[in-house]
Amino acid sequence: MPTAKAFAALSRTTPLVAHEIPRRETGPKDVVIDIHYCGVCHSDIHQVRDEWGRSVYPMVPGHEIVGRVIEVGPEVKGFKVGDLAGVGCLVDSCRTCPSCARHLEQFCVAGCAWSYNSTEMDKATPTYGGYSSRIVVDEAFTLKVSPKLDLAAAAPLLCAGITTYSPLRHWKVGQGTKVGVVGLGGLGHMAVKLAAAMGAEVTMLSTSAAKEADARRLGATGFGLTSDKETFKRLAGHFDVLIDTISAPHDLNAYLGLLRLDGAMVLLGVPPEPAKVGALSLIGGRKVLTGSLIGGIRETQEMLDFCAEHGIVSDIELIPVQQVNEAYERMLKSDVRYRFVLDMKTL
Ligand code: NAP
Ligand code: ZN
Ligand code: ZN
Repeated sequence: MPTAKAFAALSRTTPLVAHEIPRRETGPKDVVIDIHYCGVCHSDIHQVRDEWGRSVYPMVPGHEIVGRVIEVGPEVKGFKVGDLAGVGCLVDSCRTCPSCARHLEQFCVAGCAWSYNSTEMDKATPTYGGYSSRIVVDEAFTLKVSPKLDLAAAAPLLCAGITTYSPLRHWKVGQGTKVGVVGLGGLGHMAVKLAAAMGAEVTMLSTSAAKEADARRLGATGFGLTSDKETFKRLAGHFDVLIDTISAPHDLNAYLGLLRLDGAMVLLGVPPEPAKVGALSLIGGRKVLTGSLIGGIRETQEMLDFCAEHGIVSDIELIPVQQVNEAYERMLKSDVRYRFVLDMKTL
C-alpha cells in the first residue's frame, strides 16, 4: 500500500510527531491531493487529547485541507490533474439514507466517515487527516476551491467556514438580523465575516478586551466584554441569533438572556463537560437552544462559492508543521488570530 508523510498523535498525552501512514491505492472515483495547507481546528485538540472519549491512535488530525490534484481515477468526472481541491470533515457516507438524500451527509444514519479519528464506511479501515503530505478521497467528497482565494487562507473555510455558514443560513440570517457571535477564535471570526457579508448587524461577545478592534475590522459593529456583568444587562433581549463557539464550559443561561422573543442560540463549541440549562431560561421568551454540525457537501461548495464571490478567507498565522504543539497551547489560551494553518511543505 502507498504511504504518506504525516504528523501524528501517538497517545493522548504526548506531543504530535512525524509519522508515516498508509494511503489507499487510487480507486476509480478517487482524487489524489497533494496537500499544501491544513488548518488547525480546536476539534483537533479535543480529539488528540481524547476529551470526547472516543479517540483512536495513531491519530493524524486535520480537516481543513487544501491542495492540488496530482492523480484521478478513471471514472472521475469533476476534477483533473492540476486543479485546486479541498477536503473538510467528511470523506464518505452511505449516500442512500434520508439524511444523505437531503445532502446532509454529516447526519448520515449509517454514521459518516470522518476525515480522521474514524473509519471508512467499511467500519474497519482507519482514516487519517490533513496533517499529511497527501490524501485520497472520493470525488463526491472533494470540494472545488476558487483560484481567486488565497489558498492557505482558504483552508479554514473547510471546517470553520462551513460550520458557521450553515447555521447562519438555516436560521435565515440576512439584512438587519441581529447576530451575536460568542468567542472570537477560528469559528468566531468566520461567523463575524460571514454574517456581516449576509447583511446582519453583528456584535462580538468575547472574554478578550484586546480583540475588540479586530472584531470591528472583521465586520462587527458592536462588542460586549463577557467578563463584565453590565454587558449582559445592556444587551438583554437584543439578539435574533447567537452563534456560540466557546470550546470550554460556560454558563448558557447567561447568554440565553440576550435573546429576544423566539430567538435562537446555536451551539457550535463542544466543551468536554455537559452544561446546565434552566427551563426558565427558555420558557420566558419561547427561546430556542439548538446546535449545528459542520454542513453537507453541497452546502460546503455553496459556502466556498459564496466566499469566492465576496472575497472572504480566514485571517491566518501560517506555521511550520513542527510548531503545531505550540499552536495548540496558544489556542488553549485564546491566543489565536484567528486560525493557525500548517504549511505542509515543511513536513
Ligand atoms: P478556538 O479558535 O480555540 O476559539 C475558541 C474561542 O472561544 C476562544 O478564542 C475564546 O474567544 C473563547 N473561549 C475559549 N475558552 C473560553 C472560556 N473558558 N470561556 C469563554 N470563552 C472562551 O476554537 P475553534 O476552532 O473556533 O472551535 C471552537 C469550538 O467549536 C471547539 O469546541 C470545536 O471543537 C468546536 N467545533 C464544532 C464544530 C461543529 O460542527 N459544531 C466544528 C468545528 C469546531 P474569546 O477570546 O473571544 O473569548
Ligand atoms: Zn473543525
Ligand atoms: Zn447516509
